[in-house]
Amino acid sequence: MSATPSVEIAARGAKSPAALEFLKKGPTKLLIGGKWVPAKSGKTFETINPANEEVLALVAEGDKADVDDAVKAARKAFEDNRWAGMSPHARTRYLLKIADLIEAHADELAELESLDNGKPLSQARTIDIPGSARLFQYFAGWASKIYGETNPSDPSMFNYTLREPIGVCGLITPWNFPLMMASQKIAPALACGNTVVLKPAEQTPLTALRLGELIQEAGLPDGVVNIVTGFGPGAGSSISEHPDIDKVSFTGSTEVGKMILQASAGNLKRVSLELGGKSPNVILPDADLEQAVPTAMNGVFFNSGQVCAAGTRIFVQREMYDKFVDQFAKASERMTVGNPLDPKTRLGPLVSREQFERVNNYLNVGQQEGAKIAMGGGATEGKGYFIKPTLFTGVTNRMRIAREEIFGPVAAAIPFKDESDAVFQANDTTYGLAAAVWTRDISRAHKIARALKAGTVWINCYGAGDSSMPFGGYKQSGFGRENGRHALDLFTQIKSVYVKL
Ligand code: NAP
Ligand code: MG
Repeated sequence: MSATPSVEIAARGAKSPAALEFLKKGPTKLLIGGKWVPAKSGKTFETINPANEEVLALVAEGDKADVDDAVKAARKAFEDNRWAGMSPHARTRYLLKIADLIEAHADELAELESLDNGKPLSQARTIDIPGSARLFQYFAGWASKIYGETNPSDPSMFNYTLREPIGVCGLITPWNFPLMMASQKIAPALACGNTVVLKPAEQTPLTALRLGELIQEAGLPDGVVNIVTGFGPGAGSSISEHPDIDKVSFTGSTEVGKMILQASAGNLKRVSLELGGKSPNVILPDADLEQAVPTAMNGVFFNSGQVCAAGTRIFVQREMYDKFVDQFAKASERMTVGNPLDPKTRLGPLVSREQFERVNNYLNVGQQEGAKIAMGGGATEGKGYFIKPTLFTGVTNRMRIAREEIFGPVAAAIPFKDESDAVFQANDTTYGLAAAVWTRDISRAHKIARALKAGTVWINCYGAGDSSMPFGGYKQSGFGRENGRHALDLFTQIKSVYVKL
C-alpha cells in the first residue's frame, strides 16, 4: 500500500477548489451498476503529476473480477431496455445534459486533466474540455437520426432494415487526450443505445472518473456507463477477452491493437481500432511558408508530440530545405516549455517516466543513425518529464526515427527531389493515419490528396478537425472511423426484416 498522497504538494499551483476537493476525497473507486466501489482485491495504484513527479491520487486497481461485475451490470442495463428501449429524444436530452455538466465544470475538469496528463492548462481549457462537451452535443443530435431503409423487393414481399445497438461495448482509451477520447467513444455508443464499460489509461484516469460522477448527476440509468480503472494487462485484457462483451473500441498503440484483435476472436467481437501513425507533412516549393512553418511546428509539437496524428515527418524540397529548417528552428525555439499551469506555457512534460525514457532513447537512436539535432534535443533541468522540442535534420525515410512512432516532441525534416518522390516517401510507411500537403496550386493539392494513403489529408493546414469529420486509419493505423455519421456504423448493427405481404 502506498502512503496517502499530499494533494497540496502534488497539485501545487492548482486553483480550482472543486478539482482539489476531488483529489482530496481519497482513493478513487470504480463505477459499477451505478455504485462507486473499491476494487475487489482492495488494490490501488498511483497516478502521478508529470510536471513534478508527485503522487496526485491513489486509484482503484480493477482487474478481471471487477470487469466481470461491470459487464454483468452493463448486460443487465442493456437487456432490460432501460436505455436502448428509451425514446431516442430522451437519450438526446441525457447526452445534452452531460454536455451541459461538462461545460459547467470546465475549469475543474481542465485543471484535473492538466495535473494528471501534464498538458498546458490553457490547452485543456480551450481544446480538451470544450471538445468533449461538443462530442456529446454532436452525438446527442444523432440519437434521433439513426435511420433504417426500405429496400426494393418483389412486390409480394416487403423488406426494411433496423439499425440496432450492438450491446455491451468495451471502450479502452489512451492517455494523450483522456477526457476527449473517452467522450469520443461514450457519446456515439450511448446515442446508438449501447451500454458501456470504459477502461481509461492508467496514467490519466482522473477526468474519466469525474465524468462518471457527472453522468450520474445527469441521471442516466444505473449500469449504462461503467468505469473500471486499472492496468492494460488485467482490466484492459479482461475486456478484450470477455465472452459477454459484444464490441471493443480501442485507441492506443498498434502493438496493443493487434493484441486486442487477437483476443476478440474468442467470441468474434466487433472491433474498431484507432492506432498510431508516422504522418507526413509535405511542403511543396510554392507553399506559403509564413503559414506552413508555424503550422508544421504545432502539427508536431502540440501536446508535446503525444498525438496519434502528429506530423512527425516533414518533407521539404531539397532546394528549400535549409531555409525551411532555419525558419522552423527559429520559430520553435520561442516555444515555452514549462509548468503546465502557467498561461505562457506551450509545451508541458511528457505523460510519464516511461514515455520520457522512450523519447530520450529515440534522441540517441537518431544520432546513432547519423541524423543531426538542429534544435532542442534532451530534457530540461529539474523535476518533471520535460523534453525540449527537437528537430532532426539529415534524416532519411529509412531511419528508425522516420519509421517508428516516437510520441514525443521530435520532428524529422526529410528532403525530397520532386512531387512524385515526395508522395512516394510520404506513403512509404506501415502507418496511414494522416498526412498533409502545402501548395498554392489547388489542382495539385487535390491530386496529391488522392495519392496520399492516409485516413485524413489536410491541405494547407494541419491537425484541424471537427466532431463531424470522420477520423481513422489506413494500413496499420487501424480501422473504423470515429466522429461524423460514420461513428454510428461502429456502434450499430443492421437487421433486415422481410415480410410476406
Ligand atoms: P497502449 O499500451 O496501447 O495503451 C492504450 C490503452 O490500452 C490503455 O488504456 C492501456 O492500459 C490499454 N492496454 C494496454 N495493454 C493492453 C492489453 N494487453 N489489453 C487491453 N488493453 C491494454 O499505449 P501506451 O503504452 O500507453 O503508449 C505506448 C505507445 O502507444 C506510445 O508511445 C504511442 O506510440 C502509442 N499511443 C498511441 C495513441 C493514439 O492516440 N493512437 C495514444 C497513446 C499511445 P494501460 O494504461 O494500463 O497501459
Ligand atoms: Mg501501457
